[in-house]
Amino acid sequence: MPIAALSRHLVNKIAAGEVIERPAGVVKELVENALDAGATRVDVTVEDGGRKLIQVSDDGAGMDRNDAALAFAPHATSKIATEDDLFAIGTMGFRGEALASIASISHARLRTRRPDEQGGWEVLANGERIDPPVPCAAAPGTTVAVCDLFFNTPARRKFLRTVNTEFGHISEQIARLALPHPQTAFTLRHNGRETLNLPVRENTRGRIADLFTPDFAQSLLTVTPRSGPVRVAGLLGPPSAARSSAAGQYMFLNGRYIRDRLIGHALREAFRGLLAPNRYPAVFLFLEIDPADVDVNVHPTKIEVRFRDSNRVYGEVLAAVRETLQRGDLRPDVQAAAEEEAGASPASAAGRRQESLRDALADFFKSAPKPQPRLGFPEEILPQRHRGTERRSSELPIQPAQKTQSTVTSVSREEAKPLPEYISSQESEEQPAVAVVPLMQVHDSYIVAQTPDGLMIVDQHALHERILYNEFRRRLTAGRLTAQRMLIPQTVQVSPAEAALLDEATDLLGKLGMEVAPFGPNVYAVQQYPTVLAERGVKMDAFLRELLDTLGDDEQADPERLLEAVLAMMACKAAVKAGAPLSLEEMRQLLTGAEEAEKASACPHGRPTTLRLSLKDLQKQFHRT
Ligand code: ADP
Ligand code: MG
Repeated sequence: MPIAALSRHLVNKIAAGEVIERPAGVVKELVENALDAGATRVDVTVEDGGRKLIQVSDDGAGMDRNDAALAFAPHATSKIATEDDLFAIGTMGFRGEALASIASISHARLRTRRPDEQGGWEVLANGERIDPPVPCAAAPGTTVAVCDLFFNTPARRKFLRTVNTEFGHISEQIARLALPHPQTAFTLRHNGRETLNLPVRENTRGRIADLFTPDFAQSLLTVTPRSGPVRVAGLLGPPSAARSSAAGQYMFLNGRYIRDRLIGHALREAFRGLLAPNRYPAVFLFLEIDPADVDVNVHPTKIEVRFRDSNRVYGEVLAAVRETLQRGDLRPDVQAAAEEEAGASPASAAGRRQESLRDALADFFKSAPKPQPRLGFPEEILPQRHRGTERRSSELPIQPAQKTQSTVTSVSREEAKPLPEYISSQESEEQPAVAVVPLMQVHDSYIVAQTPDGLMIVDQHALHERILYNEFRRRLTAGRLTAQRMLIPQTVQVSPAEAALLDEATDLLGKLGMEVAPFGPNVYAVQQYPTVLAERGVKMDAFLRELLDTLGDDEQADPERLLEAVLAMMACKAAVKAGAPLSLEEMRQLLTGAEEAEKASACPHGRPTTLRLSLKDLQKQFHRT
């Protein structure tokens, strides 16, 4: 093929591919334009997840006839004129290709009016064609409507996910744009329903209260601002608000949402010791850096940036967050409330702050065993063939074979009571020879048991987790998990993006025995949930937060992997925790499932559950051979 310059239309389509991956990309570009135009309110209307319609209306500066004629033209921008401008960008957009790109892959309509003019201008753009402006009636400001996105790029269209997923991305996009602009009001409507209404607020905390919940906004610590060439400000969630993915982390550079690994590292470092290693703190961080010291053009949608002095950025974020945490009041809410009631004087507040961090740290490292519901395997989890004996024997606890020393064991608190002779003898006659005999529990976390050919040490949480996981799997191949209805539905506040995730996962959740349905604006109610979670006393709100994180994790896009992730998470939540004291009987129940669990290859986290030492091993260790 001879070399030929690409047609303008083709160039635009290629550019569109980079900037506009999905409807949320259109929303981003249009809202950025509205903010650049000084809008004090931005109304976004979406139909069918953005495939059918995306419309963004603002009350900003508008355009005159000339500008309107050029708006859809490639590389037409009012934001940079000279090369110097390129390195001192104060606006959101500046490459002048967004509208051109969007117009090349949709049917777009622009209506705009400058406040000082009587009438407005309308421009239609249609794939390759841009019509000249015609007069129209319009309110001051600009409205861009984008219809039939990707109508001429079938490949893109094919990659679109469901309506709910695409809308979820749009909703998240609005959050990212609205957080740094609390002085601009936003609304978002989807298929005729208003899903977001964000009035003008004085500050980011107010905006967060509207986007999330007022309680969450209240719980945030204000970052001690630091001056200098890298200015850091923001709000930090308490350790209790941390999540299992980075989805709750919002970082902005000069008012623009960014993702940055380096800042992620700095956060992890600052929260070290306050959070388990795989937890991500909720943060809203706002960095201000001279635009000349940042290259924002390393990524087509500018979501990743390059800092001139990245060490400095790392150092400043670390220092700011660390200082904030150190003076912060990190006590759990319950404790704080109790003290307030007890009438602690305000004078002691400062001293208390100092203590509170120590307390929080101490609490964290103690990882205090919360009162656990008894292990009592739910009927559906017990392997069929053990069921009869298990149930009977759990009513008739077996006496420990011998008294173990209280310094190394915590077993037999309730079981020490001797059994009536006749019962135990009857039982022992009926029962087959027990292969694995639990001896004791060590540090409330490990079970030591005798096996026919030696001994084994079991990680109680890991084992229980694996048993549950395998059982879930087995049950799902046969049908669904058994469920029970909640007497009083438990309600949860969700963001529109999270609501979309829940809608999307209805089938999956149904299999698990969960029914979660809309209950009001931003509120969902759990009507029904898996029996196993009920019996294990798993808190529904905490469970739902984990569930949403798992559902929202992009890594789990594949349905099979998503199911696996959800099952693993459920197993982990329902499994007995490390640190929970177990009775001998409970240990026995747990060990009954051990052998099968070990054999099954599927396993939630791939950790070993059991350590075995054979008599041979012991003999070798003690040089008896
Ligand atoms: P860029 O934002 O990079 O300049 P765009 O293609 O997004 O490029 O927009 C082209 C131009 O159209 C902008 O520079 C601006 O002058 C004008 N424009 C676009 N949207 C609006 C709007 N909502 N209000 C006022 N002017 C707008
Ligand atoms: Mg723009």
